[in-house]
Amino acid sequence: MVSRPPAYCPYCGDGLETIALDGRERKRCPGCGEVIWHNPVPCAGVAVVDRTGPEPAVLCVERGVPPGVGEWTIPGGHVETGEEPHVGAARELEEETGISVDPDTLTVFDAAALPPRADKHVVMTYYVVDRAETTGEPRAGSDAADARFWTPSEFDAADERF
Ligand SMILES: [Zn+2]
Repeated sequence: MVSRPPAYCPYCGDGLETIALDGRERKRCPGCGEVIWHNPVPCAGVAVVDRTGPEPAVLCVERGVPPGVGEWTIPGGHVETGEEPHVGAARELEEETGISVDPDTLTVFDAAALPPRADKHVVMTYYVVDRAETTGEPRAGSDAADARFWTPSEFDAADERF
């Protein structure tokens, strides 16, 4: 499996042919016969919600690496091989924001296929947790230029992109 459309066979390096299989176009290697599956990559993120103010605020990170540098998003990233999605979500949260949370306190609230970027497709599982369940203060960690809580009206008033 590859995360972007393959040009060559990852097993033997041959060029690929396009075939119809299971109702979709697939790439197959004429040399070794392997079908090169192009599937979405699983990712996981956490929305930390602070409900102590007059309006709920959500912890967001400003992306510091491509794609989407300068855009704000929910902290998250790739689930590692062999890692449970909620554990990956908690790990990414800590890496990107310095906020720690027990993965077992996370609740799934949505899952979605994100718009592909450079032909890379991602399926994101979003978790939610209350700020009171977390520890630490937000600081920008790996892959993040900034990390902070935003209320919807603060974000609307700012000249930022989500
Ligand atoms: Zn091959």
